[in-house]
Amino acid sequence: MSKYIRNFLPYCGERTKKINTLVLHCSAHDARHMIRVLEENKLSAHYIVDPDGKIYQLVSEKLRAWHAGESYWRGETNLNHSSIGIELCSLSMGQSEYSPKQIRQTVKLCRQIIKHYQIPQTNIVAHSDIAPRRKPDPGKAFPWPYFAQCGIGLWYDMKDSHAVDEEDVASLLAAIGYDVSDLPAASYAFCRHFAPQFVTDEMNIRRLIEEIYPRDFVLPRELMPVLRACAFKYRLHTKKSRA
Ligand SMILES: [Zn+2]
Repeated sequence: MSKYIRNFLPYCGERTKKINTLVLHCSAHDARHMIRVLEENKLSAHYIVDPDGKIYQLVSEKLRAWHAGESYWRGETNLNHSSIGIELCSLSMGQSEYSPKQIRQTVKLCRQIIKHYQIPQTNIVAHSDIAPRRKPDPGKAFPWPYFAQCGIGLWYDMKDSHAVDEEDVASLLAAIGYDVSDLPAASYAFCRHFAPQFVTDEMNIRRLIEEIYPRDFVLPRELMPVLRACAFKYRLHTKKSRA
C-alpha cells in the first residue's frame, strides 16, 4: 500500500528535462479544498502536505506537474520540466508558523526526493525565488534554516561575507540564482527566503497574493553582508557540483 493518499489529477505532461530542482509552495487551503482549486484552474503539484502531516500525491514524479508556471532559476526557465513541486497547506499563506508535524513530513519527503534524483543544494527553491514578480509562497515563516540543517537547501554563514567584496546587488542576487530583470522583485524574494524580518505581515491574504512586492523596494543596506555571504555559499556549491 502506498504511504501517500493518492488523488491523481490529469493536469500534467511529459517531461523534456531531467529532474534537478525541488520547488516548495504553500496555499491558503486545506488539502481537499486545495485539490479542488487546482482542478478548477487546471493546475497540479506532485504532492500536498497538510498540517497533520498527511501527504497526498497528485502527479507521478515521472510526469511534469503544472505548479511553477513562468519561472527562472540559475539560467533555466520553465522549471516545471525539471522540477518536483510540493504544496504545503497554510491558512496564513506561510506567514505564521507551520505545524511541527507538517514540517517533519515535508523534511522526510524532500530528503527522499533529493537523494533519489541527486538534486543539487543550489536548486532547492521557493516558488517566490523562481517567480519573484508573481508569487509569495511558501512565505516568510517557511523554516529554511532548519531545512538546511536537515540537508535541504543552503543557508549562509556570516563569516563568509568578508570573502566577497562585491557591492552590486544585482550581480550578487544573480550569483544565487535570481532573475534580476526586476530588481525590487528579486530583492524582496531574497528577503522572503533569507531575511524574513524585512518582509511585512499582511493580514489580507488576497492582497498578499495580488501585491507580491513593494514596487520601489530596495534591499536594506544592513543586509549587504547577508547577501554577500549567501552569494559566496551558492558560488562555492556551484563550483563543487561542476568539479
Ligand atoms: Zn506556489
